[in-house]
Amino acid sequence: MKSNIDMAIDLASLRNPDAKGFYGPFGGAFVPEMLFPNVEELRSRYLEIIESEAFRQEFLGLLRDYAGRPTPLYFAKRLSEKYGTNLYLKREDLCHTGAHKINNTIGQILLARHLGKRRIIAETGAGQHGVATATVCALMGMECVVYMGALDMERQSPNVARMRMLGATVVPATSGNQTLKDATNEAIRDWICHPTDTHYIIGSVVGPHPYPDLVARLQSVISEEMRRQLAEKTGSEIPTAVLACVGGGSNAAGAFYHYIEEESVQLYGAEAAGHGVHSGETAATIALGKPGILHGSLSMLMQTDDGQVVEPYSISAGLDYPGVGPMHAALAHFGRAKYLSVTDEQALQAAHQLARLEGIIPALESAHALALLEELPFGKKDVVVVCLSGRGDKDMGVYGAP
Ligand SMILES: *Cc1c(COP(=O)(O)O)cnc(C)c1O
Repeated sequence: MKSNIDMAIDLASLRNPDAKGFYGPFGGAFVPEMLFPNVEELRSRYLEIIESEAFRQEFLGLLRDYAGRPTPLYFAKRLSEKYGTNLYLKREDLCHTGAHKINNTIGQILLARHLGKRRIIAETGAGQHGVATATVCALMGMECVVYMGALDMERQSPNVARMRMLGATVVPATSGNQTLKDATNEAIRDWICHPTDTHYIIGSVVGPHPYPDLVARLQSVISEEMRRQLAEKTGSEIPTAVLACVGGGSNAAGAFYHYIEEESVQLYGAEAAGHGVHSGETAATIALGKPGILHGSLSMLMQTDDGQVVEPYSISAGLDYPGVGPMHAALAHFGRAKYLSVTDEQALQAAHQLARLEGIIPALESAHALALLEELPFGKKDVVVVCLSGRGDKDMGVYGAP
């Protein structure tokens, strides 16, 4: 396939943001003045800490012994036969707590400890990030407060029960639509009130600088392992393509990270189209969005003509987000990665197919990445890695529905 990457761009700048957190035109740190000291403390310290030997030892040790890394790179034989190509699944579904999110929360809680913080806050929509945060807080014996929209608490009650069993305090956000946006506002209010003892764990490659870069670096273990594992299995670290689903974009950032500068590797993100990109019920941010500021960074955003954020929809709670991380906005803008839309229906079919062909029930989010295989014309010499971001146990209410 011919590449049409914008040659004017230095590919390294799409992986490493500049000093102000910009990837090309996207990123930055647009925060209220009262939050500036918190974000600035993090910005000035994060790199020195996460690159230190002490941090790396502890982080890699916990990823190995607690989270179960490295996750396998599995050659999916029957799925490969079906598509006439060579398909490998990066098995993040086998991580502790069932998805890649734990890579990030382990890293951020260690960072919080290095910064001398004693209290952790987070916001959660579907509850998956809340559970991953409550898990590491229990592990480290730290106080944990998770803000969650009151409506989301009703819709995702099993995750509320999990967080509480792990010792977290779950606080309902009762303003607005009582969903993720309102929970985020509450978390920001809390952080402003606790500037010295509290770290805010953001769950994806979103938010003000340095969060997108911090989370991408913590998740980059995914592609670091992929390179090594592909070399063992195929004789080359370099695949034809890497496919991942994109909500905020953290599993995709982790899966792409060490390939961004390898121009021959095609990168594909799957966005949730919901009932269809133009149905009015969708979360296809890159397809429909325009530049705008959400949660402290300038990125692509689904918004009305007067800049109001459009309520997103997807069958998959983890992809139901109106924005996307600034790294992905830049990768799309410069043509380094392509983002395709996948409907609820296509994702459901891909999930059922993987269950029957490989005996693996994927998360609804990950099924969006698998559905891309229907669209992309890979051949029998190609090597394609799909990031299987999580497992589908949490989605049986949808899969099992008649
Ligand atoms: C949360 C979640 C996602 C979406 O988040 P990203 O930051 O885009 O990775 C994808 N897959 C699973 C299994 C999730 O839990």
